[in-house]
Amino acid sequence: MQVAVDHWSDGVPGHCVGGPVDITELSRGELAGRLADLGLPAFRAGQLWHWVYHRGVTGFEPMTTLARPLRAQLAGRFRIGRPEPALEQRSTDGTVKWLFRFADGSEAETVFIPETDRGTLCISSQVGCTLTCSFCRTGTQKLVRNLTAGEIVGQVLAASDALGAWPSGRPGRPITNIVLMGMGEPLYNLENVAAALRVITDNEGLSISKRRITLSTSGVVPEIERCGRETGVNLAVSLHAVTDEVRNVLVPINRKWPISVLMQACRDYPGLSNARRITFEYVMLDGINDGPADARALVRLLGGIPAKINLIPFNPWPGTRYRCSPAPVIARFAEIVMKAGYASPVRAPRGRDILAACGQLRSKSERQGRRRREPRAGTGVGVEIETVGS
Ligand code: SF4
Repeated sequence: MQVAVDHWSDGVPGHCVGGPVDITELSRGELAGRLADLGLPAFRAGQLWHWVYHRGVTGFEPMTTLARPLRAQLAGRFRIGRPEPALEQRSTDGTVKWLFRFADGSEAETVFIPETDRGTLCISSQVGCTLTCSFCRTGTQKLVRNLTAGEIVGQVLAASDALGAWPSGRPGRPITNIVLMGMGEPLYNLENVAAALRVITDNEGLSISKRRITLSTSGVVPEIERCGRETGVNLAVSLHAVTDEVRNVLVPINRKWPISVLMQACRDYPGLSNARRITFEYVMLDGINDGPADARALVRLLGGIPAKINLIPFNPWPGTRYRCSPAPVIARFAEIVMKAGYASPVRAPRGRDILAACGQLRSKSERQGRRRREPRAGTGVGVEIETVGS
């Protein structure tokens, strides 16, 4: 059974075929094409884009630069998607976590981390995850489905609504940086992630610089080069161990692409330079990966790669078997790495009290109904698509 997609459907699971197209699923060029189909000139796409991504409107009525009949025509053809904030939690340290619900009822978490000189939004690329990194809470939730491009963009829009972050809304921009470090493995949904990044970086809309966007992978080696070539964003790698023996347990995808293969893919990352270094994430787990010998091995592994290392004190979650390394152990590890010439900041845990910190995200979404795996064009994995009828 195929899921029918006609010319005017946005192809999103749960959206009606032939219903309004979600503008957030489209690049500016694609929007111009859709408007041309209606006989509308290209400059209309620029006007719409401005209203959606610069002013943050959620409907067509406020678009006062468009004549009323045109607004009505557009409202019949398009919609402006937003996930619904099913839950918002605020940490005592200012971190905000939302559980966003999408059109088909699936849910994923998004986190905003305010700092003095920046505001970072951590967004999800999948509902659940196919991988089972043993230190990560998301890894206990099976993959429900890939998020669409519009659903990835929608997290930025909905967070901007909640933060009053629209450029025309108030001075300053709360969201200055974006990290794809939420739920899911972005390189298993690269087609949609790349499409979303084209919208997020579009300089007539949200206009967030590629230099301020970081995509984190657990090590999906075959997609790393393409990621750099197509998106141009910064790369982060969840390394977490210096031997295959330990990494096979912490990040099981290592059994497929072991450390030596991963490191070569990092050396080959397009655009790599001292000004554009790869971030290696290293979670500090008591007695597992945190000894001085591990630190020295890490330095040897990174040889020849412009790199910085984020040391992440483990953020516990219900049911985990790991403990965070003691502070003096983390300090010793950081000192060895730093003396070798690598920046190795120890990340201050943010939002632990609301389970918003690194590795703590999870939603209750599960696969439901009668589903089957079907490869989706351009994605690295099959996604769950509801079958219609039998
Ligand atoms: S660390 Fe990333 S890839 Fe690994 S289970 Fe968690 S969300 Fe998935």
